[in-house]
Amino acid sequence: MEIVPIVSTEYDSNVYVVIAERVAVIDTGLSASRLEQKLRGVIAPERVDYVINTHAHIDHCGGNPLFSRAEVLVHELDAGAMSDGSFYGTSSLFSSTGRMRCHRVLREGDSIDLGGAELEVLHTPGHTPGSICLYIASEGALFSGDTLFAGGSFGRADLGGNMEHLKRSLRRLAALEIEALYPGHMEVVKGREARESARLAWEIAEEYY
Ligand SMILES: [Zn+2]
Repeated sequence: MEIVPIVSTEYDSNVYVVIAERVAVIDTGLSASRLEQKLRGVIAPERVDYVINTHAHIDHCGGNPLFSRAEVLVHELDAGAMSDGSFYGTSSLFSSTGRMRCHRVLREGDSIDLGGAELEVLHTPGHTPGSICLYIASEGALFSGDTLFAGGSFGRADLGGNMEHLKRSLRRLAALEIEALYPGHMEVVKGREARESARLAWEIAEEYY
């Protein structure tokens, strides 16, 4: 199994390509044209089997239409904001329009088997109602979307979210074995920094919000 991070320095979300027997792309940034450039030399879009959106904000889903063959997966509570094109108000924020298809909804406890890598779905509401993290237990790898960022910061709760739910989700992540943290924005961290990010975020959220 190989994880290829495409870390963004702009508004686009980070994009992660997980390559095993099958290929998953986790989040797709703001637009298909931007993602097409970034994916050059990494993977051909038609080789991608699954597109998994950590939540239905447009900066994480805008590139979905690039993948004509892939099955698009999102948590059941965020599927409506994707299919009605509202994306919890973020589509107008980024002047992007358009409904998007979701082929299959995800729930807590689901897993996506890539053949050589198993992505477990953790429902971590708060940033949006249907925010998820994806966890590869064998590697301690956590794809945290906008629920948790490196260094103890976390996503906002005012674009469809709920701070009390977010605190509970951070508490849950603080108890998880995290060896590598692949967040929705900003840098990837490993080892001690990865392990401490969730605990720090939970403490900060409890103290200041
Ligand atoms: Zn977001």
